[in-house]
Amino acid sequence: MDRIPMTTPIVEMDGDEMTRVIWKFIKDELICPFVDLKTEYYDLGLKHRDETDDKVTVDSAHAAQKYGVAVKCATITPNAARVEEYNLKEMWKSPNGTIRAIMDGTVFRAPILVKGIEPYVKNWVKPITIARHAYGDVYKATEMKVEGPGRAELVFTAEDGTETRELIHDFKSAGVLQGMHNLNPSIESFARCCFNYAISTKQDLWFASKDTISKKYDHTFKDIFEEIYNKEYKAKFEELGLTYFYTLIDDAVARVIRSEGGYIWACKNYDGDVMSDMLATAFGSLAMMTSVLVSPDGNFEYEAAHGTVQRHYYKYLEGKPTSTNPIATIFAWTGALAKRGELDGNAALTEFAKKLEKSTIDTVESGKMTGDLYLISTLEKKEKLETLEFIKAIRENLEKAM
Ligand code: NAP
Ligand code: MG
Repeated sequence: MDRIPMTTPIVEMDGDEMTRVIWKFIKDELICPFVDLKTEYYDLGLKHRDETDDKVTVDSAHAAQKYGVAVKCATITPNAARVEEYNLKEMWKSPNGTIRAIMDGTVFRAPILVKGIEPYVKNWVKPITIARHAYGDVYKATEMKVEGPGRAELVFTAEDGTETRELIHDFKSAGVLQGMHNLNPSIESFARCCFNYAISTKQDLWFASKDTISKKYDHTFKDIFEEIYNKEYKAKFEELGLTYFYTLIDDAVARVIRSEGGYIWACKNYDGDVMSDMLATAFGSLAMMTSVLVSPDGNFEYEAAHGTVQRHYYKYLEGKPTSTNPIATIFAWTGALAKRGELDGNAALTEFAKKLEKSTIDTVESGKMTGDLYLISTLEKKEKLETLEFIKAIRENLEKAM
């Protein structure tokens, strides 16, 4: 069989631990036998990030902007324990944070639904897509510990030297401070990414924040969404029978639980971080959540929403069998391959990606699955496979489909 040719490379961002192991299995078993894979490779494994003073992360994000499509493996975000474990020069920042800051744009996360994995919330019959704003707020904040009494103020110095001041607090004791920001152009592109994605996937859009408490910061988000919706998208939404509405974040949480799914829930950066983990778990498994960062100028970075599955990796290193779910990482690859095919007019590549997705879902629905799904699947006939066994079972289905 001839392998499917590619014209433009995909930016490949390799990562850490168990997901790095799975990354190679997926390429060797599910992609390279069928596709003449062209990638520009960046090793975002923690050791190499440390060796390059994290330059490799920045370079990979610029490459994603150059080529338009990237696929990323999960990576370690170092904490004190990791600094010791890897003997790091510095506690490097989260690669995802660095990449998001460079590409800007919005992260869309949606669960992969399969028969036998029933959401904990019985009325969720359709996927809920979370749109997470990918810039600023607490992820780009400056923090301070104050040791004792004193006055904290917010000071803005305009270019002409004019100062605007707001009292934060007159401290009578030790405490903590945080200064954070966002940018109107970033909020505007967030809004447009959400409206465009809603139109292209024909789903309603919800947006929520805490504007009753945050009367300037969160309220600006609300106003920008409202203005852009009315000016640029209202007519198109009405034509397609779609709705956009704004509500308070606490009201949104209550409505989401009562809903049947099938819409996009736009969230500020932190809300999106937290709520996407909650939704992934409630839909069945963290390992079944896909994630794509869409930049306002139309660049895409695909990844799994879960981490590097550290506990499984230590078992793997001891030579013990593992049953780690590769599905979200497979879907990161298929998302990137399908998008590359779409942009290059390479229909064979896009079709291959769809076949790989279907073969993956068919494998689980036939009763073959990894341990995380085995625990929660309601199928009567089911079998727990090891990591590589499961990938080989998908390959068998894929070979039949090709
Ligand atoms: P994690 O890797 O997401 O795993 C947490 C737990 O969820 C696992 O121990 C496992 O449960 C289960 N799980 C997650 N993915 C799974 C899969 N594919 N198959 C089966 N089970 C799965 O989070 P973590 O252990 O808290 O973090 C590990 C590292 O990942 C950290 O260094 C963190 O910085 C990094 N991280 C990276 C990203 C990213 O790059 N996007 C995102 C989050 C975290 P059991 O152990 O009970 O089986
Ligand atoms: Mg998170």
